[in-house]
Amino acid sequence: MIRVESLHRHFGGFRAVDGASLTIKTGSITGLVGPNGAGKTTLFNVIAGALPPTSGRVLMEGEDITGLAPHQLFHKGLLRTFQIAHEFSSMSCRENLMMVPGGQTGEGLWASWFQRGRIAQEEAALLKKADEVLDFLTISHLKDEKAGNLSGGQKKLLELGRTMMVEARIVFLDEVGAGVNRTLLNTIGDAILRLNRERGYTFCMIEHDMEFIGRLCDPVIVMAEGRVLAEGSVEEIKANEAVIEAYLGT
Ligand code: ADP
Repeated sequence: MIRVESLHRHFGGFRAVDGASLTIKTGSITGLVGPNGAGKTTLFNVIAGALPPTSGRVLMEGEDITGLAPHQLFHKGLLRTFQIAHEFSSMSCRENLMMVPGGQTGEGLWASWFQRGRIAQEEAALLKKADEVLDFLTISHLKDEKAGNLSGGQKKLLELGRTMMVEARIVFLDEVGAGVNRTLLNTIGDAILRLNRERGYTFCMIEHDMEFIGRLCDPVIVMAEGRVLAEGSVEEIKANEAVIEAYLGT
């Protein structure tokens, strides 16, 4: 689904991403691991359109998507969630989900005068979809809760829910497990697996928790010093000498 070719992203003289090449297969849950400073977040930022590359290409199903803006990638079904979830804290969970699709008829002032029936219909459909998503994520009981009151893990679930309000095809998850308790981590893991199996989502996730990675990811790509160091199953990379050395060296 995604092919990254000889990607570089330099900051001044520093090579945060230094010729990374990798492939994310359609239908996979690909893990991206590596010591701090390996360039994982910078790579995500370049793929997701938040940073232009210094050189190299990103292809999505063969199409060159290098340097496209996040909203253009959004329309292609490429979404990214953040290490810190970006919710609208004073709005309810349901409203947060209903905000996602955009481009609704009611957003135009004139349209709102002339098309009241259509707006009501669209809103009802969005509401239904938001409730289905909350149900899927097993957080229906939080639908009227202000997003700002959610725990860190619940915010991550809500963020995952936001990807379900549109036709996502590949989702980049940035440390979805960081600071989340085990129970909620299992719920998030279940949601990721179900989205993958039942809805055909491809995932690429930066993650540190090896147990979580072991449960979800195949393959796992290891980055170090801005490049891909190894790729394989969790067992394979755990036994890889170069990988062990990269981790111990930090
Ligand atoms: P990782 O996500 O693997 O921990 P990052 O991509 O966050 O790695 O960072 C890789 C390196 O690039 C780090 O040494 C970091 O300090 C540096 N870096 C990241 N962003 C910038 C920036 N905007 N300006 C300068 N250096 C940066």
